[in-house]
Amino acid sequence: MRTFALIVAAGRGHRAGGALPKQYRKAGGQPLLWHSASVLSAHPHIDGVRVVIHPDDRPLYDAAVTGLDLLSPVAGGATRQESVLNGLESLSDLSPTQVLIHDAARPFLSARTIDAIMASLADQQGVLVAIPVVDTLKRADGGLVRSTVDRENLWRAQTPQAFAYQPILDAHRAATGQNLTDDVAVAEAAGIEVGIVEGGERNFKVTTEEDLARADRILAPPLSPRVGSGYDVHAFGDGDHLWLCGVRVDHDQGLVGHSDADVGLHALTDAVLGAIGAQDIGYHFSDKDPAWKGASSDRFLQHAFGLVADRGGRVQHLDLTLICEAPKLRPHHEIMVARVAEITGLRIDQISIKATTTEQLGFTGRREGIAGQAVATVMMPDAPPGPRA
Ligand code: MG
Repeated sequence: MRTFALIVAAGRGHRAGGALPKQYRKAGGQPLLWHSASVLSAHPHIDGVRVVIHPDDRPLYDAAVTGLDLLSPVAGGATRQESVLNGLESLSDLSPTQVLIHDAARPFLSARTIDAIMASLADQQGVLVAIPVVDTLKRADGGLVRSTVDRENLWRAQTPQAFAYQPILDAHRAATGQNLTDDVAVAEAAGIEVGIVEGGERNFKVTTEEDLARADRILAPPLSPRVGSGYDVHAFGDGDHLWLCGVRVDHDQGLVGHSDADVGLHALTDAVLGAIGAQDIGYHFSDKDPAWKGASSDRFLQHAFGLVADRGGRVQHLDLTLICEAPKLRPHHEIMVARVAEITGLRIDQISIKATTTEQLGFTGRREGIAGQAVATVMMPDAPPGPRA
């Protein structure tokens, strides 16, 4: 047996919204097509996977299937049926005996379903994955129910639909121009007997924006909280203002530092880096590096947020305490919170900024400098993103 899979991905489907055809939209960090193709190409009984694409989509396709071992794609036609025929014709050089035809927008095909299809295909020329209809069906017209449709023996067709190769190729050639909506309909028209393998609700077709969000939730790895702490001090020096939490605060002294000496943003940056075990602010932005001389510190915090996002996580909460006798920070509280929200993209209810004194004790009490200490709560994936069995 030589078994190939054909994935139909030539549609323009924008019903899910967005600028991209839905098969190239991402769920769980990867395009829907990637999920469909990776399950099929990883299956031990499938000898090759070919995707039928829209000719305009080649760059999207190349980006979507990076790292997968697939046959070269072929161009589809104006309808799904034409696209499948093009795909079937293109396989003939490979002498297939069986073919599975699958829609790219069903990313949750399981290896178990493929196993069941292969087993069933040993006895029949065609196999449909489908689920029995459980809802009561009504026929309506003009907004009024006209009748109840007997749901007995009714099935909802999914994909893959699998066939002996030569019969389905002949059936498709014979059905040219009919615009049938699935391949089993083509097989029916040719009198090919098609068996049913029961699929699952999980093998749903992503059609709407809501479906895409559902797919994303299913694929998203669970997130767990991690907590990081940060601490920073800068000494007072000459000046008439200082920077705290990205806000310019007028004062009769400034803060001394290689960058803008924003003790608040530095403590927050170290807290976020700490939560993901990514060293400290000095590791990423050396105070020996002239590039950061006088730099505004918002970029440090944004860099830390970027590292979190790169690892599939998100910052959930920031809590900062600034420790000094002066300047008085209460008047600046709201604008500091708003500025940190602007820098980070967090909502203001995810940001806490507090101020305290040390009752004139210690270096902050002697007004030698300002200290900041911060706690960041970060939600991180338990496992890296990727397909699940
Ligand atoms: Mg610092």
